[in-house]
Amino acid sequence: MSHTRTPVVEGWFTGEGNDFRLLGTRCSTCAAVFFPREDTFCRNPGCAGGELTEIPLSPRGRVWSYTDSRYRPPSPYVTDPELSWKPYALIAVELESERLVVLGQAAPGITVADLAVGMEVEVVPGVLHEDAETTWTTWHWRPTAVTARAAKDGGW
Ligand SMILES: [Zn+2]
Repeated sequence: MSHTRTPVVEGWFTGEGNDFRLLGTRCSTCAAVFFPREDTFCRNPGCAGGELTEIPLSPRGRVWSYTDSRYRPPSPYVTDPELSWKPYALIAVELESERLVVLGQAAPGITVADLAVGMEVEVVPGVLHEDAETTWTTWHWRPTAVTARAAKDGGW
């Protein structure tokens, strides 16, 4: 049976492969950028409010902080409590132009031993979880040095 690919959270990311991007919103009045997206009111206290427009965010940023996640993450992450929990590296990334810090899992195979504060990473499509019918998709962060190494070695 083929799996339906469904975003874990609707409207937070779009595209495939190199076109994969996180989606935020930007205020037309003060140009503040929000992620998670803010669709109702501009949250800048110094702003009278403006129109919030969806924008793709920088695909790259730098590691601001990271940790080993040894517990099940809270909602909106979807996990199956029947399955054993696999620890993964969780990275906080400061986006290149927006200067927003966005949390996400490291791409498969990347551990905290591969990471350092200030390291450049890029957003890549990822799979959070699979059940009988659905592949739940999310975003992952991958160090750009890993991408360069993979390209040199002839791909993945
Ligand atoms: Zn505003």
